[in-house]
Formats: sequence, structure tokens, C-alpha cells
Amino acid sequence: MTLTPEEALEQAALAGIHRLRIPTPFAVGRVNCYLLEDEPLTLIDTGPNSGKALDELQGQLGQRGHSIDDLELVILTHQHIDHLGLVEIVVEHSGAEVAALGLAAERLASFGEESEREDEFAVELMLRNGIPQEVAFALQSVSRSFRGWGARAEVTRPLEDGQVMPFRDRVLQALHRPGHSPSDTVFWDEERRILIAADHLIAHISSNPLIARPLDGSERRTQALATYIESLKKTREMPAEIVLSGHGEPIVDHVALIDERLAKHERRKEKIYALIAERPRSGYELAQAIWGNVAVTQAFLTLSEVIGHADLLVNEGRVREAGEGEVVRYEAT
Ligand SMILES: [Zn+2]
Repeated sequence: MTLTPEEALEQAALAGIHRLRIPTPFAVGRVNCYLLEDEPLTLIDTGPNSGKALDELQGQLGQRGHSIDDLELVILTHQHIDHLGLVEIVVEHSGAEVAALGLAAERLASFGEESEREDEFAVELMLRNGIPQEVAFALQSVSRSFRGWGARAEVTRPLEDGQVMPFRDRVLQALHRPGHSPSDTVFWDEERRILIAADHLIAHISSNPLIARPLDGSERRTQALATYIESLKKTREMPAEIVLSGHGEPIVDHVALIDERLAKHERRKEKIYALIAERPRSGYELAQAIWGNVAVTQAFLTLSEVIGHADLLVNEGRVREAGEGEVVRYEAT
């Protein structure tokens, strides 16, 4: 029998996993952090770096009889600032260890420089795909203005894909599931069939596979959507009963949700193929044909979507990239 999302939260709480909903200044709304009442006392994700988020984190921990100072371990699910911005302050107050994917440790440690490089990478990608300079530069300054909500993190417990983390009352297995970001890591409690999935899978919105710099520091972009689809297929095979997300409500039927997401990507891929088959188009032209003005205000997001699906078509041999001067155009083979 399938649980309701409310029952799933109750069941997670009985297993000592408590959702803390921390405010963010971003369109996504609150972020879900999880308190693990176990030994060590653990916080999974911290929320963004703001006074309001800190207040609410302290308040919500207080409701459960804890304080930030009591935390012994912080686990980071991925590199996005709405999830990790408070980590520096939390560690300063508590002396907690920080566990995260080892491959992401350098990225997390040099937050400032890495964010700057990430922005430069994004600008270059946008220009190469036909986005006008003024739009690309405007987005770069928006991204810079958000940086204060992030922070650097010193990972003291680097995790490997598949690594088992023992606690007093449970074991969690860390599984690398890149796609939404290169560092996405989910945490699997096999005994209770609970998966803490953060932004890898979200009930009410699809997790945008944003194009990002690879964690190895190379400048070659990843195929974010193709990678994400591979990750989703792995998660689909897991016998999870409850999936706890980074935003919104728990997922109680992850197989149905993943099938829905995969079908949506398939439809969008065919829509993009039809546009390319009509005539060669740049990523920006494709985004405009699909989203109109949103392709301007959300240029990087929509471009990530277009390139992600075009990658799938290139991998299938149906589309190729054709360089025409500086701007890349996709054409049917
Ligand atoms: Zn995220």
C-alpha cells in the first residue's frame, strides 16, 4: 500500500529523520534540510547563508531540543548555494565534521573562485549558442549578486560513490547521482527503504539538469541531461518506499514519477528535433521557439534544457553541431 506524503513524513520522523524547511531568497521557495537524530547528530544540508535562514534553522532545531552547537556532522547533498550556504557558520558554532562527495571537495573549498569560473563558463556557453551579449552579461551579474548566499565548505569526510556511513541506529549509503548538478549525492537507508534524494528528484517540479563545469576542473562541458537520465534510471531500480526531496513534499511512488519525467524528456526531445529538421537553428533560436520571452529572462536555464535534449539527438546520430563563425547551430543529419 502506498503512503500519503504526510504519512511518509511521519514515518521518516519515527525513524529519526526530521524535515526542516529553511527559507531561501530564490524562486524555488524553501529548501528542505533534514535533521538526523542519531549518533552523530547530523544535519543534511544547511540552507542558504542568510540571517533569516540561520534564525529558522536555530528555531526549528530548538523545537526538537537541539541547537546548532550540538551538531556533530553536516552532510552536503550537492554544490548549490540554497543547500549549503550556512555550512561555514554551522561548522564555526558546532565544530561539526562535513561529509560530501570527495570529487566535489575542491569545488566546495574554493567557492569564490569556482563560482567566478562557473559564471565565465556559462557566459562563454551562452555566447557560443547565440545568446546576445547583453543578456549573457546581465545574467552573469545576477549570478554574482547571489553569491553572498553561498559559502565555502571544508569537506573533512570525503565520500566515495557507494560508501557506507555507519550511525548508531542506521547505515546510510552515499550514491553519486549526477545530473541536476555534477555533485548530486543521494543517501540510501536500505533497511527502512528511505532515500534522501535532495534535488535529484522533486515531486512538484522537474530537477533542471543545469549545464555545469565538470568537477575535475576541465573546461569540457558535461552532458547534463544525458547524465541525469542515466542517474534517474538507477534510482528507478531502487526499492524505495519514501523519497525525501530537497524541496516540497516526500515522494511515495518514485517509479511513476521517474517514468513521467523520462516521458516528458522524450517528448521535448522530439519537439526539438522537429524544429531542427525544419532548418538549422542555434540553441538560443530553439529556446525562443519553445519558450518565447522566457528564453531571455531565463536564458541559461532554457539553454541548458535545449542543449541537454540536443545532446541526446547528437548521441542518437540524428543531429550534428555545425559551427558557423562563432555560433554553433544544430542541423539534422
Ligand atoms: Zn540544487
